[in-house]
Order: sequence, then structure tokens, then C-alpha cells
Amino acid sequence: PVSFESVSLKFGSTLALDEFSLDIAPGEFVALLGPSGSGKTTALRALAGLEAASSGRILVDDGDITGVPTNRRDLGMVFQSYSLFPHLTALENTEYGLRNRRQPKAARRTAAQAGLDLVGLGDLADRYPHELSGGQQQRVALARALVTRPKVLLLDESLSALDAKVRVQLREEIRQLQLRLGITTIFVTHDQEEALSIADRVAVMKDGRIEQVGTPEDLYLRPASAFVAEFVGVTN
Ligand code: ATP
Repeated sequence: PVSFESVSLKFGSTLALDEFSLDIAPGEFVALLGPSGSGKTTALRALAGLEAASSGRILVDDGDITGVPTNRRDLGMVFQSYSLFPHLTALENTEYGLRNRRQPKAARRTAAQAGLDLVGLGDLADRYPHELSGGQQQRVALARALVTRPKVLLLDESLSALDAKVRVQLREEIRQLQLRLGITTIFVTHDQEEALSIADRVAVMKDGRIEQVGTPEDLYLRPASAFVAEFVGVTN
């Protein structure tokens, strides 16, 4: 499980997270949904150890991770820009996910190939990023994030650069893969349709806080505020 306990995080005078609290169960798929600037990315970055909270705690499997360096937090991350290395093949990019593992090169190769197989790109291992479509590049990024079999997968607007059709297809694949691996996943998006269609629970964020968290059905049928109703697209 992952718990944010009253986490506040400031950038100068901007309160990006304002006593943000959220509990995520093992194997759960939670979407953080909210307008631009509501603190979604900051919440992920705090969990990843890329930003330090001003107060509050973050727990993973009941252990406080404050002070644990990013590369020891056992997370897989995929961000919007694919951030693949252009001069490395799909296989080498995936292998990069294992750079901190003390493993013989051959074992890393085998694991990276298995990672590409997992996302359906086993046959394209030798392609360079510019020889892959946007969706395929995003699959490589996913393979790289999953290759260590992390406890938690963080996806930040990772589909938003893709065209609509590829996006829907890839989100279905991510969901299937996530269920198969049973990996706890946090998915950041500003797209309500995407959040409601993919997540077990959706946390609607506003001004660094959670306005409401619930199943897609809860939010849709019982929005806690006008803001939530409007954001999830309830019109009446
Ligand atoms: P978006 O959907 O646009 O990515 P978001 O919900 O992910 O938005 P954050 O990126 O978490 O929002 O930003 C939350 C607030 O913190 C915003 O007001 C933003 O301007 C501010 N902020 C984020 N990163 C920094 C930074 N490095 N320096 C200063 N302010 C920042």
C-alpha cells in the first residue's frame, strides 16, 4: 500500500500540495484527476523522491520513505515525454531500467527482452526510438518502468501525446497488464474520460488537495461538490 499522510509541499510561496492525504491499496489502480496546476505531478514527484515534502509523510508498505533515495524507492515511472535515449535501441532503453541492479549483462538482456515481450514489442527490440511510433515508444517506456518489477507504477500524463485511437488502445493494454501483474498504479491525467474509464478509484484534485476520492460510479452519481460534478462531466 501507499499512503500520503497530510503531505504539504511548497515551491516558494506556491502551496503545490496542501495537506494532501490518500491511501492506496495493494494492486489498486488510482487516477489523480484535476485541472492544470492542481498538484497531480507534484504528488507523484514527492512519492518518487524528486521533490521533498515540507511536512507530512509518505509510506510505502507501511514504511516511511522520507529520506530514501529515488533509486531505492522501488518505483517504475513513465512520463509524458517518452524520455527514451535516441541512440539506444528499444532493448537497450529497456535494459537501462536495470542499471542499478548488480546483474550480469546477459541476465539484464534476458530480463529486458522479457520486458519488451510483456508490452508486445518483442519483435522490435533492435529498433531505435525514431523507428517506432509514438505508441510503441510509450510501450518501451512502460517496459523500462516495469522491468525491475517495482512495487508501484507511476504514470504521469503518459498517454496525452498520443492520438485518440492509440491512447484508448494503450490504456486498455496498461490496465490489463496492471491487473495481470497486480501492480499498484497511480495514473495522473487531466482527462476525466480517461480517468473514469480506467481506474478503480479516482481522486479529484483542486489546489493541492483532494476534493473527492471514490469509484468512477461514486463520482458520477454522488459528486461531493459542484467542482467535482463539473469536472467529471455531470450535467444537470
Ligand atoms: P498539469 O496538469 O499542468 O501538469 P499538475 O496538476 O500536475 O498540473 P503540478 O505540476 O503538480 O500540477 O503543479 C502544482 C503547482 O505547483 C502549480 O501551481 C505549479 O505552478 C507549481 N509548481 C510545480 N512545479 C514547480 C517548480 N518546480 N517550481 C515552482 N512551482 C512549481
